[in-house]
Amino acid sequence: MLLILHPDTDERSAAYQSTLKHLRHLPGIAIKRHLVQGQRQVLTEIYLIGDTHTLDRAELEALPAVERVIRISEEYRVLGRHRDDRRINGFDYQGLRFDQDNLHVFAGLCAVDTPRNVENMLRALRDNGQVCTRMGAYKPRTNPYSFQGHGRSCLPWVFELAGKYGIKVVAMEITHESHIDDIDAALAASGQATGVLLQIGTRNTQNFELLKAIGRQNRYPALLKRGFGITLAESLNAAEYLASEGNDRVIFCLRGMKSEFGAPHRNLVDFAQIPIIKRLTRMPVCIDPSHSVGTRDTAPDGMLDILHATAQGVVAGANLVLVDFHPDPREALVDGPQALLLGELEHFLADVAIAREAYLARRQLWSDAF
Ligand code: PEP
Ligand code: MN
Repeated sequence: MLLILHPDTDERSAAYQSTLKHLRHLPGIAIKRHLVQGQRQVLTEIYLIGDTHTLDRAELEALPAVERVIRISEEYRVLGRHRDDRRINGFDYQGLRFDQDNLHVFAGLCAVDTPRNVENMLRALRDNGQVCTRMGAYKPRTNPYSFQGHGRSCLPWVFELAGKYGIKVVAMEITHESHIDDIDAALAASGQATGVLLQIGTRNTQNFELLKAIGRQNRYPALLKRGFGITLAESLNAAEYLASEGNDRVIFCLRGMKSEFGAPHRNLVDFAQIPIIKRLTRMPVCIDPSHSVGTRDTAPDGMLDILHATAQGVVAGANLVLVDFHPDPREALVDGPQALLLGELEHFLADVAIAREAYLARRQLWSDAF
């Protein structure tokens, strides 16, 4: 059961104290408090955990600090959508809104390589009106002898360049909690030149200690990739790990499933599940067409499979597109063959805009009809 307190309830107030006192005396019920920082106010949510069936909703609603009571299912307590749940979805970060209704593109390098390539990428983004990017510094690789990413050594110049080109958010995968400290230090040294969206890769979806560490901090939102070999419910529970530790600014990313049935694509594209995630949870949904498709193969209609997959996701209501680009894929240290080219950026963005308009038109059509 979830109790939503009146906005900006002060913990020292008599209303709060007497409400808490009542809740602490409920037999067999544990209390977990969760703070939601909105743009203008702080909302306190109190989760009652245990056998809540016998609790009287009206009695709880009558407690002085309580505004609303929601009966929630066991699954996805914080991030889920529950019956009569009118909680907002999404969050603000770096002056940008991330929710289930809007769309951002995170185009950039799979892996940071040279300052020249990073700068060329960021300049192209700025010239095309973009304020977000992806830049991999820590790369989890299947082969231990493959390039593992430049790690902390590249952070200072990557963040400085991001600031120089007006990039507000860099999606960056981390594979260990110590990488958060690296990012803190480099961002501080850069004078907070940009922001970071902490990415959890598909190989780490169920690295619970990493999830807890990212969940314990509130400085950076998180983008969780679905696990490529586990069920959707298992991946959504992984996202809930982040929220259960306190960080509910979580974006869920579809990136395809490992399956022979996806061949010759690298993974089986799973973007038809966007509406499911929106129905079950309040998370914005990201698609990664690059790691799903994994090739630059072109259909007879002249369009790359990656472009088709992107459009399919956007037309189904995706809220972020995470996509690999590279100024010179021959120099790319990771995933060069699937990268889009800088010369394709303008058309890529126009194509995304067409698909987005189609999504909005479809939404209007069906809301007018019924
Ligand atoms: C990536 O986005 O760079 C990446 C490694 O993705 P995934 O974890 O989905 O394979
Ligand atoms: Mn990659």
